[in-house]
This record gives sequence, C-alpha cells and structure tokens, in this order.
Amino acid sequence: MDESSFIKEFEERMLACGNERAQLLDSIFNNIFQLMAILSPDGELLAVNEAALQICGVKKSDVLGRKFWDTAWWSHSKEVRLNLIEKIDEARAGNSMKFETTFSDADGGIRTLENNINPVKNEKGGVVFIISMGRDITDNKKHIDSLVKSEQKYRYLTENISDVVWECDLNFHFSFISSSVYKFLGYTADEFLKFSLNDLIAKSGFYDIQKRLVAEMTEIVSGGLSKYKQNSFLVEVQCIHKNGDLIWAEITYSYRFNSDNNLIGIFGVARNVTERKKNENELKETKKQLEKNNHELKTAISEAKTLAKAANEANEAKNRFLANMSHEIRTPMNGILGFIRLLTETALSEKQQEYIKIINFSSNHLLDLIKDMLDYSKIEVGQLKLDYKPVNLKDFIQKMYDIFWPQCFQKGITLIFDSDDSIDRLFYIDELRFKQIISNLLSNAIKFTENGEIYFCVTLNSIVDNMALLSIIVSDTGIGIEAGNIEKIFDRFYQIDDSNIKKYQGSGLGLAIVKGLVEMMDGKIYVESRPEKGSRFIVELNALLDENSSSISASNSLQDNNKSAAAAMLDKKIKILAVEDDQISCLLLSTLATINEWEIFIVHNGREACETYSRQEFDVVLMDVQMPEMNGIEATIAIREIERVRAGKRIPIIAITAYALEGDCENFIKSGMDDYISKPFEESELIAKIKKYLG
Ligand code: ADP
Repeated sequence: MDESSFIKEFEERMLACGNERAQLLDSIFNNIFQLMAILSPDGELLAVNEAALQICGVKKSDVLGRKFWDTAWWSHSKEVRLNLIEKIDEARAGNSMKFETTFSDADGGIRTLENNINPVKNEKGGVVFIISMGRDITDNKKHIDSLVKSEQKYRYLTENISDVVWECDLNFHFSFISSSVYKFLGYTADEFLKFSLNDLIAKSGFYDIQKRLVAEMTEIVSGGLSKYKQNSFLVEVQCIHKNGDLIWAEITYSYRFNSDNNLIGIFGVARNVTERKKNENELKETKKQLEKNNHELKTAISEAKTLAKAANEANEAKNRFLANMSHEIRTPMNGILGFIRLLTETALSEKQQEYIKIINFSSNHLLDLIKDMLDYSKIEVGQLKLDYKPVNLKDFIQKMYDIFWPQCFQKGITLIFDSDDSIDRLFYIDELRFKQIISNLLSNAIKFTENGEIYFCVTLNSIVDNMALLSIIVSDTGIGIEAGNIEKIFDRFYQIDDSNIKKYQGSGLGLAIVKGLVEMMDGKIYVESRPEKGSRFIVELNALLDENSSSISASNSLQDNNKSAAAAMLDKKIKILAVEDDQISCLLLSTLATINEWEIFIVHNGREACETYSRQEFDVVLMDVQMPEMNGIEATIAIREIERVRAGKRIPIIAITAYALEGDCENFIKSGMDDYISKPFEESELIAKIKKYLG
C-alpha cells in the first residue's frame, strides 16, 4: 500500500467517526504537548503531532509513511530502534506497554522519553492502529537523579556520623532518626521510630527534655515565635541506654515551621558526651582534691614555719647558751692559765714545777675541748666564717712538723713529712682552720698508733685558672677502723671505743669538725682503713693561688710573740682603766700591770667605769663585756658620749671578752670599741694590742 492510499484510508476512517468528533480529536492531537504518532499495525507512521515534529526538528513529509523505528528521531541508537520493533510487534499482538527510551531532539541532543504504546482495536478485536504517546522526561529525570543523589548523601552522612540526627512531630513521633541511634541508645532506628511518647520517657528517660520542649512549644504558640524561629538550642540531658547504662546526651535542636509560620515539628542532633562529662567530673574532683591538698599544704607550710621559727628560737637560745657557757668557762680559765704562767716565773721546787706542768696541760686540754664545742656549734649553725689569707704551704707544713714531731718522738713512732717545692708558694687559705683540720688528723694518727710511722703529705695536683687542687694525706700504721665504722666516725660525738674504760681520750668531735671545715672549703674527705694495719685520711681542697707573691716564708715568721720585745715598745708608763667584774681576772690584770709597770685602775662594772672616766684621764680602757649593772657595750657608748660632750680626745677601748660568736665582735666595734681580745689571752697578746694603739 502506497503513502497516499494510507492517508486516504486514515481520513476515511476518521470521517466515519463523525466529522465533529474527528475535528476535536485532530485539535487535541495537534495541541497536546506530548509527542504523539499514529501507526499502522505494521508500524508505518500515519500521523504525527506538531509537538513531536517541533521537538525532534523534523518535517511531516520526512516521517509519514516510514516505519516508525526508521524515523530520524531514533537514528542515534540501533538498540533503541530494535527495541521499538519489538514493542510494535507486541502492540500488533494487542498489548499495551509503557517504557523508557531515548530520542534525539532538534539540536541533536539525546533526551529521555517515557513512551506509551497502545493498540486501537476494532469491534472484532483486531488491531487497526497503534498509538505512540511519549513524554519528554529528561528534566524530570535529572531533577529526580539529583534528588536521589542528595538523599543518598544525606543518608550516608546521617548513617555514618556517630551523632544521632532526628526529626519528630509535635507529638514526639519520630519521622526520622539516623541509624547511629543504635550505638547511642541500643535501639535500631526502626525500633525507635515505633516509640510512643510514653516509650520514649519510660525507656530512654527523656522526661526533662520533653517537658522543656512542651514548655517552649507552648510559648511559641502563644506568640513567642521570633525567639524560636531562627535559633537552635543546646541542652544536656541524662538518658538510659537499652542495657540500662546512664548516658549523658548533648542535644542541639531547632523548631521547624511551614511557610505559614506554623510550628510543624522539631529537628535535632544528639551527641553522646558521657566520656566528656566523666572527664569534667573527674576534673572537678581533681580540682577539689587539689584545693584540698593546697589547703593541707598551706597548713603544713604554716606549721613548718611555726616549727622553723621555734627551731630558730631554740637555736638562738642554744647559741646564747654556748656563748654564756664559754664566757663562764673562759673567764676562770683565763685566771688559771694566766696565774700558771706567772707561777712558772716564780721560784718553785721541782715537784711544784711538775704539778704546774700537769695543771697547765689539763687546763689547755680543757680549753681545747671548749674550743671544739664552740667550733662545732658554729659550723652547725653556719656561724663560722672563713678568713682566707695568703699562706706559704711549705712553711706551714714545717710548722706543723715542729708541733707534732716531739709527740711522735715521745711515743717512739716516726713522723714523715713529704712535700715538694710546688707548694713553696702562697695559697689563699684560712690558716687557722687549715691548721685545725691537719692537727685533728695528725693528733688522731698519733693517738691511735702505737708503733710504726705516720706519713703526712701535701701535694699540688693541678692548677686550673689560678685555682690549685691540693690533696692532703695523713696515714698511720695504727689500729685501723672496721669497714662498718668508717662512715660513722664523722658523726659528732661518735667514738668506736665507747666502753666505760676508755683507752683513748677524746670528745668524738674532732672529725665532725674536720668534715664540717673541709666542706665549708668546698672540699672532700675520704678514709681508707684496715683494722690492725692502719688508716689513711685524704682531703681534697681547692685553693686560689696568690700570683703576685712567690713566697712569704720570711715574713711568715712574724708570729713572734716575744713579750719582752713587745713590752719594750711600751717605754712610757701607761695608765689603764680596766673594767672587769671577775675577781680572778682583776687579780691577773693587776699582776700583769705590776710586772709591766703599768698604772692600772680597776672598776667592776660599766657605771663605775663611766664615773671614773669622766673624772680622770687614761691612755687605754680594757673593757669586759658581760658585767652587772651596765655591760661593756653600754659603757662604751656612754664613754663615747662623754667624749663627745667634752670634745676631748678619743680613748682606745679594747674589749676583753669571753664572747666568741660570729657577730659579737662586730657589735663591739659598732658600739665604739676599737678592738677586742679573747679570754684566755696571752700576756704578749695584750701587750701587742696596747702597743697597737699607744705605740
Ligand atoms: P676523738 O678522736 O676525739 O674520739 P674524732 O672525731 O677525732 O674523735 O674521731 C672519732 C673516732 O674515729 C675516734 O674515736 C676513733 O674511734 C676513730 N678514729 C679517728 N681517727 C682514727 C685513726 N687515725 N685510726 C683509728 N681510728 C680513728
């Protein structure tokens, strides 16, 4: 059948349907926006509407009479065409169908078509036409695709974050909850979505937040919209996990409104903050504990301060006691030693001379003990100050040898002094304290050695930046020390032989003083010893070198206390005011005055001294410190005041004191004294002092 006969047949059939109806159908056919085509049962195109022609950019003449699948709009894909052949076959068999396919539009773009193919049957059921009706769904599809994608994204997000995203209506029926609710509360999202309000409160304990939300919703409904419209809110609540655990949830929520500003639901995110809360609570606890500790610490500090104050006071009291004791002991010692010296100068029988020697020895021993006690307590309370002066060590060692040789000789032991010329130079040392260290070590060596030898050596090990490292060794072949006692011997009052019948004399203070002094000099002391073999004490000290002077050997022999020489300097008859309350000391002073031909005027306290001084002229005042009524310091201040008033000459005032503690001497000078001399003093010392001011 050719094209024209087809059209003719179609028109005849249309006419047979009645003219008016045909016109109506024609109008619909051409004005409908969908793409329409009428096909013969064989699939030849009988008619196509305007929409199809326009969208596909084809002319009616190009398509009419062609097989439907051979037309230009399907030309882009063979598959599409084959599919259409199948569909038309099905329609010819009387079936309707709806399917999605693609076609090419006027610009050659490929678009998606949702196509319906329906057969039109005659009364006998035979297919007379096939109608294809298509809808361009390209844009719709894109929109749907993007919706699906965004839904997927959203889902992915909500499924994968640990926070729980939820949405509910005004009756607290959840329309959405992310699957993370399972991890959060132990319920699956499906289980949770079925929860009623009662379930929610009973099972998860959201009572507080529900109450709060209801209150807010009431506020919104009664006009408080603006506050809630744009804002989100944060609340922390405790809820119950399916397994019964209590969990802390931090919920951020906001209200949802429709376009008419009607409240339609609530949207929110819940986060499990149990761990954070736990940490916060722990932190609070720790803070509390810290505050408590702090408080306890403060209390302890204040108690410690009180104790330290008490200890300080006790220490001061101890010092004062020591000073007083030393005064009390030194004053009579002064008398004893002074008179012993004077006695030796009188005519004595041999027996008497021997007794005097013993008294002298015992008195000196007693004095040494007092000195040790004082030294130790001074070291302990940090009151002992070192006085570094240049000393030639070689000369110093020689002097030590001279002192200790006779004792060794008497005991029948050999004393070996070993040193080289490297120490024949000046080192800054505190000679008095250095002598004390070495004397203690040597005395012990002699004391604890019955035969053999004592070896003493001072070596200069190295010099770095003018600082010399000296080592002093004192070794003996004596009784030695058990290993277990080595550390203890430096403890104060420690003596290995503490039996009642003591073989060796001693106070047990010597090594404690030695160690204290060595440490004050930044040095170290070690002992190596073997019982019955002997001991070896090693001291290591740093001493600054005096580079300017090579030796003071010659000048160092100035400790020449030749009393007759000193006395000779005092050629004129001098007039002394002695202020002294102790009877024996007074007697000693007046005896010395007689021997030295001084004119002496003795008073017994500060008040008498001031009275006497205001009436008479003197050359020098010898002033005791501790006296009744007015002490030496007060008297000195008063004397200086008398001098200021009468604008006369300034008399030298020399303190004769048993005080020996740090700071006391400074106080004497501050009060106006010129010098001081410690009890017990040597006659030569007193003469030298007087000479210093009058000579
Ligand atoms: P002291 O000699 O007055 O008892 P020290 O403090 O000087 O006190 O010595 C403490 C103790 O150390 C002594 O009693 C003695 O037991 C022991 N010691 C010290 N030096 C020696 C030594 N060279 N040989 C053996 N023992 C010693």
